[in-house]
Amino acid sequence: MTKRIYVDNAATTKVAPEVVEAMLPYFTEGYGNPSSIYTEGRSARCAVEAARAKVAAAIGADPKEIYFTGSGSEADNWAIRSTARALASKGKHIITSSVEHHAVLHTCQDLEKQGYRVTYLPVDEYGMVSPEDVKAAICDDTIMISIMFANNEIGTIMPIAEIGRIAKEAGVIFHTDAVQAVGMVPIDVNEMNIDMLSLTAHKFHGPKGIGALYVRRGIKLTSFITGGAQERMRRAGTENVPGIVGLGEAIELATADIEGKSKKLIALRDAYIKKVLDAVPYSHLNGHPTKRLPGNANISFEFIEGEGMLLRLDMKGIAASSGSACTSGSLDPSHVLLAIGLKHEQAHGSLRTTFGEENTMEDVDYIVDSLKEIVALLRSMSPLYEEFQKNQK
Ligand SMILES: *Cc1c(COP(=O)(O)O)cnc(C)c1O
Repeated sequence: MTKRIYVDNAATTKVAPEVVEAMLPYFTEGYGNPSSIYTEGRSARCAVEAARAKVAAAIGADPKEIYFTGSGSEADNWAIRSTARALASKGKHIITSSVEHHAVLHTCQDLEKQGYRVTYLPVDEYGMVSPEDVKAAICDDTIMISIMFANNEIGTIMPIAEIGRIAKEAGVIFHTDAVQAVGMVPIDVNEMNIDMLSLTAHKFHGPKGIGALYVRRGIKLTSFITGGAQERMRRAGTENVPGIVGLGEAIELATADIEGKSKKLIALRDAYIKKVLDAVPYSHLNGHPTKRLPGNANISFEFIEGEGMLLRLDMKGIAASSGSACTSGSLDPSHVLLAIGLKHEQAHGSLRTTFGEENTMEDVDYIVDSLKEIVALLRSMSPLYEEFQKNQK
């Protein structure tokens, strides 16, 4: 097999060896049920609570404000559905954005069917929500604002602290899907006035199937799964002890040196962006030029089908992601790319590369060379490009 270059770290990441190491004992000797009162149970309980403290420390929260979930999607669902239910008598209006992850968007759409009113704020050409728009959208019956910390497709980092301040002044609960931001951007829930925050381990070199929801003390959280008394009676089911331990270890590693790590990723990202835009005509960057996730580059190539590009990149050993949801079985162009003003065909011709700590400048050069070749080949087969060139003459 040719050497693989993985640049799809926004989709998922490789579990760090230290994380695997920390988890392993909890599959073997440490298999006790944290709810049991004998030695094996107590040691599992200690591991779960130590991990909870690590998650809390990473975002400036108190351990009592952290609830473990089965994924980032579950944390988003729980935050929004719980608040909607708990505050239904106060109001039924929710403010979110048009570029949220589907875990937020589809949840809001579901609540609309149940009689809630949802404002989907537009974004600017960079994918940024305007704090003024948030402020203007707040009504007497607004119960919640849910705006993502950083976008998973185009990497744009939202003005979270400003939105947090506005939400606090208005007395509205502020939830943020910080799945892409944790470990990449410093986060302090108190400084930023965040009331609820979703995260998931597999986006920062932890295991899949384990996430967490932060809920500020004093905010009512309704139970998500009924049954046993786990997670302070809010989420029944015996804890995923190895997963929780892995999440704790991964978040500690990911937040240890954010500045050093992001410097390295920004160097790779910016070199890649510059080289691609220089080497490939009719290409442009999506998302904000600087206020973007350190490892994220999203570039549109005119006259290109993203799927064809992805398959040819794969044959060259490169794993990246396209600007349509085709991977999930639908041919719809990305709602995020449409929201920043791209036409359907431009959205289809977009490529997301999300660099990680294992990538090098050699990888960047190899990807750029491959792209140059692939884009030229695909354009040579494109009737649209042919027509465009004729019209140019
Ligand atoms: C990946 C992702 C999720 C979903 O997390 P899962 O743990 O895979 O359910 C939610 N929001 C954003 C922004 C993401 O990137």
